[in-house]
Amino acid sequence: MPTLTVVVAAFNEESALPLLQPRIAATLDALRREQGVEGGVLYVDDGSRDGTWDAMQAIAANDARVSLLRLSRNFGKELALTAGLDRVTEGAALILDADGQDPPELIPQFVAKWQEGFDDVHGTRSARAGEGWLKRATAHAFYRVMGRLSKTPVPADTGDFRLLSPRALAALRELRERHRFMKGLFGWVGFRQAAIPYVRAPRLAGSSKFGFWKLWNFALEGITSFSTAPLRVATYLGIATAFVAFVYGAWIIAKALLWGDPVAGWPTMMSVILFLGGVQLVALGLIGEYLGRLYEEAKQRPLYLVDAWMPATGVSSATS
Ligand code: UDP
Ligand code: MG
Repeated sequence: MPTLTVVVAAFNEESALPLLQPRIAATLDALRREQGVEGGVLYVDDGSRDGTWDAMQAIAANDARVSLLRLSRNFGKELALTAGLDRVTEGAALILDADGQDPPELIPQFVAKWQEGFDDVHGTRSARAGEGWLKRATAHAFYRVMGRLSKTPVPADTGDFRLLSPRALAALRELRERHRFMKGLFGWVGFRQAAIPYVRAPRLAGSSKFGFWKLWNFALEGITSFSTAPLRVATYLGIATAFVAFVYGAWIIAKALLWGDPVAGWPTMMSVILFLGGVQLVALGLIGEYLGRLYEEAKQRPLYLVDAWMPATGVSSATS
């Protein structure tokens, strides 16, 4: 029987998990009955500071299909997912948010696509319920900018709700970069992709872990990990500035030769100095942004550390 492991990364989700688990369990039952796929769940506790780990253990005690993984601290969603996916050594994996925003009831649709032969089945948000206009507008803009800049395709309005076939999963596991922009990594892997439109539900409980700054940093992360276009923009900006400077310089020399050189020009001098200083600092900052990432990669640290690993007792879909 083919197997599917649902990977759920959770950070401070003690109130959402007990609401989510019965829905996943019911879906897995139906999956086994109707599509002949053996399902399991792998919960990753991303260093939660509330009762998430206890909630997970209670869930695992009641369901033999549940595996638990706890990281040594909060590593962030992308690394928590990586840790979870690393533990899925058999069959396909499906990534689900712990807060119920990605409805588990849609899993059979994903599996059906997988059975049709698709390797990367992703949910595309046709609507977002319970999210403010600012978040929707910035998310919209982000996907458009990303689509423009990135060389590998990043499907718009697509989160991490997706099913990966065994070979896509194996390919993803080869990508060990520290700065993990998952949406981009999935796109890089390629293979046969299918999109399933869905309505993103509001959170079951708790509040979003991604505030404005986290999302801004996430966007920077995405752009710098998947594109060097900003560096090229800096080059063009430099060329344009140099060109203007040459023309202006020639004009100053010609003027001095023709009409002499009375001491004047404090306003022009100041504006030129300030302008050049600004442009240089921006370009330096950009280079620094990439250099910092290079430094992080060069350290070759492990991506995450595991505190506890409790494989499922009942099903062999997730084994270490
Ligand atoms: N999450 C995580 N580690 C973190 C932050 C978030 O594992 O450091 C999980 C979180 O528990 C949830 C998912 O990532 O399952 C999405 O987070 P959230 O719902 O806060 O983001 P949003 O849906 O608002 O973008
Ligand atoms: Mg959410």
